[in-house]
Amino acid sequence: MAEVLVLVDHIDGQVKKNTAELLTLARRIGEPAAVFVGSQVEAARPRLAQFGAGKVYVVDNPDVTGTLAAPLAEALAAVVEQASPAAILLPTGAITKEAAGRLAVKTGGGLVTDATNVDAGDGGVATTQSAFAANYTVESVVTREPAIVTVKANTTPPQASQAGATVVPVDVTVSDVAKAAKITATEPKAKSARPELTEAQYVVSGGRGTGGDFGPVEAFADVLGAAVGASRAAVDAGWYPHSNQVGQTGKQVSPQLYVACGISGAIQHRAGMQTSKTIVAINKDEEAPIFELVDFGVVGDLFNVLPQATEAVKAA
Ligand code: FAD
Repeated sequence: MAEVLVLVDHIDGQVKKNTAELLTLARRIGEPAAVFVGSQVEAARPRLAQFGAGKVYVVDNPDVTGTLAAPLAEALAAVVEQASPAAILLPTGAITKEAAGRLAVKTGGGLVTDATNVDAGDGGVATTQSAFAANYTVESVVTREPAIVTVKANTTPPQASQAGATVVPVDVTVSDVAKAAKITATEPKAKSARPELTEAQYVVSGGRGTGGDFGPVEAFADVLGAAVGASRAAVDAGWYPHSNQVGQTGKQVSPQLYVACGISGAIQHRAGMQTSKTIVAINKDEEAPIFELVDFGVVGDLFNVLPQATEAVKAA
């Protein structure tokens, strides 16, 4: 059975949940193998082994930072040449999507971005994509090998399956053209004790209805151990950082529980959260469109409802 490569998403060797999801999907198509860019592969190996990576191709080269698309595409092309995989799965993101496009040009493989499901298909790799703000579901089969697919986070539950995760070093020589761009500074991320938005089991989001006071939203999030999200209206008003925006031009989340507080439910917001398992909305307007897609709705003022909900969870 041919290998299916999964690009590992990690911070200093700490493997993110979306990698476990991609390895789970890879097992449906072929033999999963990971591609690790960086020097901390030993920290990552146990988790990669736990989710079924038979091999871990390691690109440990300072010219391939993993945060610029051109060197990453060249590194992946080198791994493809060595491994001849049937497919490559990458986590969806701005850099990975650009790298995937470049890789498709280099390898002649078929490309699908923003997939929400991947499976073995008739004559190739079957993919499902949500398109146009999640208003359409597109099903396609990638018939040109290697199939290159970027997959959105939180689309499949990770399932463990122990494997060897044998390390295979890959030599990569990055071209001068790909090395031409350099990262000269990175903005430090604000430290938060809350979970990462795209990986959280629970998300509590605030919108324009907060009037800029996210205190009750954050207090409720903290008793649940939830991440905090925001609508674009709240972000555009400067009340919350863009990194917390949920929606078409923000992040896509798919937690077990999504609580929308003072959010009307515009389609661009839905595009980022409508695959959540259970959706709850608190809105003082009973006609708000968000109530069309909720499992539970509370018609009320969030400044009354949230403190009571917070106390109830504390008391439970
Ligand atoms: P509003 O639509 O103003 O709704 C506020 C809600 O709060 C109302 O329903 C009101 O009844 C309720 N409310 C007010 N006070 C209270 C209270 N005290 N208690 C309870 N409820 C209260 N939006 C996103 O969110 N994410 C995106 O990624 C995104 N991308 C976009 C991309 C494009 C190209 C475009 C054109 C738009 C995009 N938008 C996005 C914007 C989107 O169309 C909406 O404008 C936005 O989602 C509205 O945010 P909101 O629900 O917070 O505000």
